[in-house]
Amino acid sequence: MVSTVVNRLLGEWAAGTEPALAPARIHAHPRSQESPSAMTDQPDPKSFRPATRLINAGLERTPYGETSEAMFLTSGFVYDSAEQAEGTFTGDVSHYQYSRFGNPTTSNLERRLCDLEGAEACVLTATGMGAVSSALLAQVRAGDRVVASRALFGSCHWIVAELLPRYGVETIFVDGGDMAAWKDALSKPARAVLLESPSNPMLDVLDIRMICELAHKAGATVVVDNVFATPLYQKPLELGADVVVYSCTKHIDGQGRVLGGAVLGNAKWIDEVLRPFTRNTGNSLSPFNAWVMLKSIETLGLRVNAMTQNAARVADFLADAPGIVRVFYPGRKDHPQYELAKKQMSAGSTLVAFEVEGGKEGAFVFMNALRLISISNNLGDARSLVTHPATTTHMKLAPEERARLGITDGAIRFSVGLEDADDLIDDLKRGIAALGNR
Ligand SMILES: *Cc1c(COP(=O)(O)O)cnc(C)c1O
Repeated sequence: MVSTVVNRLLGEWAAGTEPALAPARIHAHPRSQESPSAMTDQPDPKSFRPATRLINAGLERTPYGETSEAMFLTSGFVYDSAEQAEGTFTGDVSHYQYSRFGNPTTSNLERRLCDLEGAEACVLTATGMGAVSSALLAQVRAGDRVVASRALFGSCHWIVAELLPRYGVETIFVDGGDMAAWKDALSKPARAVLLESPSNPMLDVLDIRMICELAHKAGATVVVDNVFATPLYQKPLELGADVVVYSCTKHIDGQGRVLGGAVLGNAKWIDEVLRPFTRNTGNSLSPFNAWVMLKSIETLGLRVNAMTQNAARVADFLADAPGIVRVFYPGRKDHPQYELAKKQMSAGSTLVAFEVEGGKEGAFVFMNALRLISISNNLGDARSLVTHPATTTHMKLAPEERARLGITDGAIRFSVGLEDADDLIDDLKRGIAALGNR
């Protein structure tokens, strides 16, 4: 009875058209559904260039014709009949079921991320760590081996070093640039490989193509954490990776508002390996957060390109500045893996690492003198942020492990934002002056 009234109030939409549903597939522009002539007029969405696709890919309007993507802030969905509910559960009917499994707004973002990445399928997760942990836990079982690069985001390191061994998984860390060590670790069968390039926080660049070749010989699924390069500047799937993970909290939201994560890969792996795990363990993104990110992804290219231009300028400035021992930026010729970076990335991206004189004291004096650039452990934000990894994000690592990763006490990670580069340089001069006055 109630549902009849609601159907009448909603008119055509509820009674008639069934919203298109399949999660995370690339969809034609919805206008193509209007009429046969509109269908023939409509250019193939894949013929659009990347900036256009950041705005249009995966867009599915409701019959109300809203300009902005609709936000479906709903936990569940109702069925017209018991038969439709039954069919939804057997899979014979295409209908949203429950937002832990799928939701029109999150599906919209999944389709757009698939398009951006060139992936067949995507599952969004509540956070970036949700993406990394699901991508690994969905596939491993006791007795498996997992090989990972040593230089990982702190929580990723914890999952490999602490969590997986608890479940009977053998884990092996390798120095990312040591190809002999990769070869050795992958001379025996392995279930998965996890790597990050450029790495956090010192921006090591790893040879993704070569590691994928070795990993595949060992039967491993390669998971690449592509946060630092962003989907714009590095395409791990084209380099041979099987799965790409993101913290969407970083450049994809990019404005410090919401947490989110994404796992992308081929449809078979996502549907058969990952999705049963995420559906049943509940690591789902809120449709509200997905909607926020649908808005921010429209400007991803504008923001990340401008931040990268700033990063390149700031890195050049720091390289010649007094009190700065060393600068690491994948876009600079003096980066230890510059040639490799040039081969597998199309730009240096938004992060710069540098080391100041005076160890921890020097780093603290430098950071405390900044007036524009904020001290924070986040990154990829429109605001410029600096971090002292040795005492924050990487404090839990043993000192020898930090030394091995090149995280000295004077090292600072700089996530370069959208401010005017001259203002950023003026602020860095404050830090440099304070270093000189110590
Ligand atoms: C931030 C980050 C993560 C974790 O993402 P959250 O959204 O904070 O959970 C994982 N990997 C890298 C490289 C990151 O920068």
